[in-house]
Amino acid sequence: MSRVDKERTEAVFDDFKPAYNRAQALTEAHRCLFCADAPCIKACPTSIDIPQFIRKIATENTRSSAKTIFESNILGMSCARVCPVETLCVGDCVYNGMDEPPIQIGKLQRYATDLAYEDETWRPFEAGDATGKSVGLIGAGPASLACAHELRRLGHACTIYDKRPVVGGLNTTGVAPYKMKADRSEAEAEWVLKIGGIEVETGVEVGVDKSWADLGEGHDALFLGVGLGPDHGMSLPGEDLPGVHGAVEYIERFKLGAVDLAGVQSAVVVGGGNTAIDAVRELAGLGVPSVTMVYRGVEDKMSGYAHEWKVAKQEGVRASWRSQPLAFEGDGKVEGVRCARLDDAKQPTGDEHVVPADLVLLAIGQAKLEGLLSGLEGVSFERGRVVVDAAQATTREGVWAGGDCANGGKEVVNAADEGKRAAQAIDAYLQGAK
Ligand code: SF4
Repeated sequence: MSRVDKERTEAVFDDFKPAYNRAQALTEAHRCLFCADAPCIKACPTSIDIPQFIRKIATENTRSSAKTIFESNILGMSCARVCPVETLCVGDCVYNGMDEPPIQIGKLQRYATDLAYEDETWRPFEAGDATGKSVGLIGAGPASLACAHELRRLGHACTIYDKRPVVGGLNTTGVAPYKMKADRSEAEAEWVLKIGGIEVETGVEVGVDKSWADLGEGHDALFLGVGLGPDHGMSLPGEDLPGVHGAVEYIERFKLGAVDLAGVQSAVVVGGGNTAIDAVRELAGLGVPSVTMVYRGVEDKMSGYAHEWKVAKQEGVRASWRSQPLAFEGDGKVEGVRCARLDDAKQPTGDEHVVPADLVLLAIGQAKLEGLLSGLEGVSFERGRVVVDAAQATTREGVWAGGDCANGGKEVVNAADEGKRAAQAIDAYLQGAK
């Protein structure tokens, strides 16, 4: 049952990439060349057998197609919507070198997985025979869900802990609503949990409501999938004015509930990464008349995906390049962002300008959660990330990690891959511990 508000602001968005109907899916599937040594498989972090699942769509064996996807990536439904396919599988499709449109792999994956979700009785996988071992997973996001599902297939009991009242992690609270809405992410989490034997304790903050010592005593192994921390601030004058927010925090507010943008005429998003692009597109989509991205760099060097920025521009978003915020100005609430103009070497030219704004979102990165994990002695960090080996093992025996807390902030598909591989390594460890 959905735990997010039905009246939430994100509900106004339509899908940016509408779903295929049967005829469209069959037509696209029949275009696939079913390449041997297919480059699209190599471009997928979870190595989905893409030509095989497409061939099964072409022969109208969609349930088996979905199983091929879920066998590699149990989060294949959300990945079909949120993966940056232009830089992964679709970007490597051989058609790109033939002056032909590449196969729309994400839309075909969505077609197969959505049909699978429609049959509520169908379960592609069973839990394994009980091993008597138990794993605690901290965080209910994609990495933990993928890890727990694989652990259940291997017969280990699992408990997931999350401080939030909702499951799905950033898939629920942070994904751009024109790609996927919060209730769809919740539905995926519930679907994954239907394998059985995964307990979920929401509203439990480890280190506050439950100690690391208790967790260690209650489980034979632990998996850390805690994601990243709060938005970074800029420590600039006026940052505490009403109307200045962290982007991730603000996006979560309108994905889970309602925000009032009625009085907002001009919004500024500071940053040039993918969160910044999501934020400007979302504000434009919510009807803010003027949306400007303020970024220190230049257009062809921004860290966000170029294909996403191209769409943002088509949607009317503007940018103030080579602009370094100096202060947030306003009388009782934010009214503008004072910026220094930078030169090619990102040094101030001496020119300053003010970008009008009655809403400012800071999208300059998120804090790492080193502090949260400090109670877990023996776990090492490097630049705020949990240090892991190739099997996602941390430097403390019996503890693995995956997703953003270990990779610094990548895609859902990376979290799914890391969670699954961690589960296989945990299984080998628990087998040895028998
Ligand atoms: Fe099909 Fe393109 Fe993959 Fe070849 S590279 S198998 S054409 S999707």
